Amino acid sequence: MSDHYGNIKVQAEQMKSFGEDTKETVDTKVQVPVSSPSASPDPSSSITTTDAPSSSICKQRSKNLSSPGKDEKSSWGKPVSEMSVYGSVVPALALKNLNSLGNEQTLHIKGTGKILQGKSETNGNYVTIPASKNTHETRCEDGLKPSRKRRPVTVDTSKAKTSLEALKLSIKQLKWKEFPMGRRAACDIYWHGVSFHDNENIVSGQVNKFPGMVEMLRKINLSRAVRTMQELFPEEYDFYPRSWILPEEYQQFSTQIRVVKEHDAAVNPTFIVKPDGGSQGDGIYLIRDPSDLKLMVGSQAKQAVVQEYIPKPLLIDKLKFDIRLYVLIKSLEPLEIYIAKEGLTRFCTEPYQEPSQKNLSHVFMHLTNYSLNVHSGNFVHSDSQNTGSKRTLSSVLYRLAVKGVDIKRVWSDIIALVIKTVIAVVPELRVYYQADIPPGKPGPTCFQILGFDILLMKNLKPVLLEVNSNPSMRIEHEQEVAPGVFEYVPSPVDEEVKVGVIRDTLRLMDPFNKKPTISSQTKPGGLEHGEEIPVDTESQGRSPDEMGNLPSLCLKQVYPKYTKQFNHLRLLERIAALFIRFLGVKGNMRLGPTAFRTFIRTCKLSNSNFTMASVDILYIDITRRWSGTLPDSREAGMGLQAFVEAFFYLAGRRFKSLVLKEQVASLLELCETQLGPQSSVEDRRSLSCSRAMPRAIKTQTLCLTNPHLNSPAPQRRASSQDYQAHQRLKPRTLRANVEN
Ligand code: ADP
Repeated sequence: MSDHYGNIKVQAEQMKSFGEDTKETVDTKVQVPVSSPSASPDPSSSITTTDAPSSSICKQRSKNLSSPGKDEKSSWGKPVSEMSVYGSVVPALALKNLNSLGNEQTLHIKGTGKILQGKSETNGNYVTIPASKNTHETRCEDGLKPSRKRRPVTVDTSKAKTSLEALKLSIKQLKWKEFPMGRRAACDIYWHGVSFHDNENIVSGQVNKFPGMVEMLRKINLSRAVRTMQELFPEEYDFYPRSWILPEEYQQFSTQIRVVKEHDAAVNPTFIVKPDGGSQGDGIYLIRDPSDLKLMVGSQAKQAVVQEYIPKPLLIDKLKFDIRLYVLIKSLEPLEIYIAKEGLTRFCTEPYQEPSQKNLSHVFMHLTNYSLNVHSGNFVHSDSQNTGSKRTLSSVLYRLAVKGVDIKRVWSDIIALVIKTVIAVVPELRVYYQADIPPGKPGPTCFQILGFDILLMKNLKPVLLEVNSNPSMRIEHEQEVAPGVFEYVPSPVDEEVKVGVIRDTLRLMDPFNKKPTISSQTKPGGLEHGEEIPVDTESQGRSPDEMGNLPSLCLKQVYPKYTKQFNHLRLLERIAALFIRFLGVKGNMRLGPTAFRTFIRTCKLSNSNFTMASVDILYIDITRRWSGTLPDSREAGMGLQAFVEAFFYLAGRRFKSLVLKEQVASLLELCETQLGPQSSVEDRRSLSCSRAMPRAIKTQTLCLTNPHLNSPAPQRRASSQDYQAHQRLKPRTLRANVEN
């Protein structure tokens, strides 16, 4: 805990050194999604928490609230320059951010950038319709002048599936035009219920899914991606529980647990096992001993993640709960991330007890999934946002604030968690993106709403449980209207949150609202510093008023806004850029041996100590091992994750004395220099902070609750027979810097 907050303070110092606003304390500017006091907490109810700094929630209410800015769903936002200072709590209520729309609209340059943008226009995607009855005046409620008349934005909703109801309401509020059966002519926006590929042959417009997102966010891939970041930045990525991938890491898992128990007989950790493709709690179970793992389904080894179980979650009313946060990835390149000010909290329905052999199977006590708890007799459907088994995030934060919890700190930790997680998955997404929509080929651009599931530990530290590529956007819930008869009935809590998220996502993606992104790079010091925004102290609601005026955006930009605080983490994107550069054939996602050799030669990475023969051995060894571990290994060759491993190895060989992240940054610089300016100027500019990383960050064992557990990744790599056989290749010795 102290390390964690110490870390955030370091970020604060870094921010100051980067010229962020240092005059005001962060607390005065942080906006936290707290619901209106009308949602008054039940004073008799208990909140179990420790170490919660006590602070008044009211004293700073009107002070300097700075502007700017498978499942469940409140109000409001804050800056990272602000993220680092913890002080009193600001009960932000619903804020009217007069500048947000104007500032946050972005010139839509994604992936292939301007080409795509130009393309959609020249493709006739935006057909000009003469002003008529069905055109409307776009209302820029955030203080901008009404724009000139235009045709309504068209949305293909034919594949929207369970998000349809919320989508329809959103389109109606925006006065846009829906095409429920699809449309022969191109639409501006295609809303897919599952994946990018729900509708094939889209050559223009925007799709609400990225190619590869479903795959990347499966439990195993997400774990791998975060673990790689943990190797590079152990302290920054300590928000993800220790995880092992089954079946391949079974041996390491059981050995480690045995060692831990031998070391201290009093230690008896619990683990949660999650099937790889699972959702809604399906197939999840808790264990205390590796021998309890169910490794097989029939004759097939089960693909799963086994994860350290967080035994001391924060409780409200003695119940465990988790947070569902909606996050919009508006664009991959440049990276743009928005967080919804309002989310949902899902409550267990049986009072929590720390795991014991006796209660391991009590799902209503340990698992917060709505889909499970709704079947408990204790589940409370409530139309109120602050009672029941599903509540708004703001109502929960408000409750915590009333109890003296520093919710501003909690919220800034959550924002950091989200940005870091996205940074972990973006490299691979870029590989998918170029394969599906190669530069120069007609195609749409993409955006996506993700559902982050976050648990608060008793000490208030947020922990990432998982990220859903298809968060449920249902605004109804199942109710048993007669014994055994279930019906969908409207759920006001879901509607409040989800319609706001979809509607405001659409507003941000409005193709007629193209304004250049003002990032902290183009405007040092950040977007909103010095731009104080008037704040409504009364909740203004999240639905349009009687005049149809829309409320301020519920989505708050956090990246590039906080670029300076997080840019140094984006090393893997630079590795991915190299990887993509050498892929060669469009649509390819794997590097062949010749391409790998070309990479080594072009970047001048071989010499008399590291011959091309060694390069070939490295390629074969790593590729063989990775193709055995990936469930989807149809394509031969080296995937990005394998390439990253090879890159780390090469970096370690060349820059032995440095810690891993410095080795990697140094090798990247070397490669980029060899490749010349063509290697994504934009990338190099925007990622250059990575070279200014503080040296020798203290290494530590990664573990949320049990310091005896070690990361499995280095052991897996160290066990490579081929590496050991080849005298010159000693891949893991260099990792010792990080892991010890
Ligand atoms: P699913 O996709 O099936 O919902 P999750 O990873 O979200 O899988 O896990 C289901 C539930 O289990 C979570 O909502 C949470 O309540 C609980 N859970 C998951 N991981 C952990 C963990 N590491 N520690 C404690 N509880 C956890």
